[in-house]
Amino acid sequence: MRDCSKKARSREGSKINVFFLNQEQITDMNLILLGAPGAGKGTQGKILSDRLHIPQISTGDILRANVKNKTALGIKAKEFMDRGVLVTDDIVVSMVEERLMMNDCAAGFLLDGFPRNMKQAEALEAQLVRIGKGIGHVIGIEVDKKTLVKRLSGRRVCRKCGANYHIIFSQPLNMGVCDKCGSAEIYQREDDKEETIEARLVVYEQETFPLIEHYTKKGMYHAIDGTGVVDGITGSIMEIIGQRSNNS
Ligand SMILES: [Zn+2]
Repeated sequence: MRDCSKKARSREGSKINVFFLNQEQITDMNLILLGAPGAGKGTQGKILSDRLHIPQISTGDILRANVKNKTALGIKAKEFMDRGVLVTDDIVVSMVEERLMMNDCAAGFLLDGFPRNMKQAEALEAQLVRIGKGIGHVIGIEVDKKTLVKRLSGRRVCRKCGANYHIIFSQPLNMGVCDKCGSAEIYQREDDKEETIEARLVVYEQETFPLIEHYTKKGMYHAIDGTGVVDGITGSIMEIIGQRSNNS
């Protein structure tokens, strides 16, 4: 209820906004994007970030940037990585918090693949309160398991140059030969084998189901059918966040 009234007021105009500067700033463009591996989250994230002029924030990117720039958090994270263990949720969450405080997040942001589980979601909520922000919408790109397996298990990669192919959707011009470098070593990554995919999807479901429930209860969750064409899916998402691409 609190969220609705504030959102309604902020739409009325900038005069009223002034009074709310020190409170939570919830904008329709503070977004979380959820989706299983193969659901097209990366593709949609990139398009939305371009169209809405908001940064696409993934934990992988933040982690790499922190390690590269040798920030305090980056140095801590690297200790874990060097030992070959997962960087703890605490470090990841702190990195996200620092990232969300940067200027380019003022008008909105798109969290891509974060939070991954309830623990991270709770930490995110606490940190958003600390920095005076709030989530507007959680978009879940939903694709049935059979389609996901078909998409993921068809992926092939060139061993030499890393070019990506798909046995149904984007075959190389000459079967088995890389278009880019001419290598004949196009293979299936271990991660993309059917048995591995099934296991990855089970883990994803187990971690994400409670998140979906949580955001549904808060009235923030929107399920989007991720099986149509790319443009159509983008259009559905834009409608939800109130950006009716051009014609309204
Ligand atoms: Zn190649």
